[in-house]
Amino acid sequence: MGKRIRELVDSDPQEHTITAEGWVRTKRDSKHFCFFEINDGSSLKSLQVIIDKTTDEIKHTVQQITTGSSVICTGMLAESPGKNQRVELKADSVELIGPAPADTYPLQKKRHSFEFLREIAHLRPRTNTISAVARVRSTMSMAVHRFFHERGFCYIHTPIITTSDCEGAGEMFRVTTLPMDKIPMQDGSPDYSRDFFGKTAGLTVSGQLEAETYALALKNVYTFGPTFRAENSNTSRHLAEFWMIEPEMAFCTLEGNMAAAEEFLKYVFAAVLEECAEDMELFNRWIQPGIIESLQGVVGSSFTHMPYTDAVQELERSGASFEYPVSWGMDLQSEHEKYLTEEICRGPVIVTDYPREIKAFYMKLNDDERTVRAMDVLVPRLGEIIGGSEREDRHDLLVKRIRESGLDPQDYWWYLDLRRYGSVPHSGFGLGFERAIQYVTGMQNIRDVIPFPRTVGSAEF
Ligand code: ATP
Ligand code: MN
Repeated sequence: MGKRIRELVDSDPQEHTITAEGWVRTKRDSKHFCFFEINDGSSLKSLQVIIDKTTDEIKHTVQQITTGSSVICTGMLAESPGKNQRVELKADSVELIGPAPADTYPLQKKRHSFEFLREIAHLRPRTNTISAVARVRSTMSMAVHRFFHERGFCYIHTPIITTSDCEGAGEMFRVTTLPMDKIPMQDGSPDYSRDFFGKTAGLTVSGQLEAETYALALKNVYTFGPTFRAENSNTSRHLAEFWMIEPEMAFCTLEGNMAAAEEFLKYVFAAVLEECAEDMELFNRWIQPGIIESLQGVVGSSFTHMPYTDAVQELERSGASFEYPVSWGMDLQSEHEKYLTEEICRGPVIVTDYPREIKAFYMKLNDDERTVRAMDVLVPRLGEIIGGSEREDRHDLLVKRIRESGLDPQDYWWYLDLRRYGSVPHSGFGLGFERAIQYVTGMQNIRDVIPFPRTVGSAEF
């Protein structure tokens, strides 16, 4: 492996010959020289290459070099007279590896819209913004694993195919091998007993229930994997396939859960600010001005805690006019969440103890019997970034809540067993990975923070 461009552009002039390889971003010719910039995605910076057109062979090669072509250049890394770069490669040979005909190569040197780039998702990582997103995504993934690994959490791979719908959301993709053209029927509906798994199966919408079983054996665990929702919502925040991070902690109540969520967010944001400083400058300049300061604000803040009931009161008292008026019992809308974090708390806030009616069955019922031990972490610019709860660990109450939610306790027999054998207080939360990347980069559309987005009507590539 040759040195990456990132190392070359940041190094001092060198006495020996070096090799640089990459894709051409721009090219400029003068009578005797050819200048071009090559980039290999290791950073935003490109390496300037200059070659003296001394021989016919060189002349012939550089003539064929166009934006997008791949080259290997050899020469001396010398101090650059230009003010945009420290060093440049004075090449004495350049080899054209793969040409990119200018009349058809779609990525010419101009700004393309993100909509257009989505149509060429196989080439868009060659642009500055999408390559920066890819590096941030990778850095964030590593930071997530590092955070949990350093704290002794066990990484659990929960199944992608599942026969239990975590929240009864009914937005699962079905997994079946029944022949679509002649589905075996029984009493008017498909006979799933003859399907591959002998019952209805789908792609997972969450790994939480399975993670809970491992938490009740390994204490602190987390999942980080793909999640699927067949929701027909064509928004800039919904994908049909996205990644979710779900830690689960045994012997941990809501207080510990809140502390973990705060520490986790700060850790991941700080890692990106530090390790992707150059990319963050790009987002700060072109995508979302002020984003660096806003992330630093979260990292340096201490999160406010506020019960839902107080939050509703504060919102009512604020006198602000909302599209949806606030009242106790309703789910907070994004406008309320933003107002809470930006105007009332002026920083991240964790809202707890939501009305039981608007939250999932597995959240622990409070003694008031009206609210559950839920928590939503709200951050400026976005609103909810994390949702979590202390789980209901009392068997009989959980059965009741499952029934209330219109679900069948028998389908949850193994989940209920955790409450029959060695039950303990336990808690966890979920973070949609793409939503977090959107927050960190300021990218408006979730389709631009995952390499190959799957959405309603779209699964090209
Ligand atoms: P929303 O109200 O935005 O649809 P949700 O209430 O359905 O979210 P949860 O069921 O709590 O979300 O899922 C946990 C996390 O997964 C969410 O906080 C969000 O970050 C993320 N998430 C949920 N649905 C999607 C989706 N379709 N695409 C990308 N991320 C998602
Ligand atoms: Mn949803």
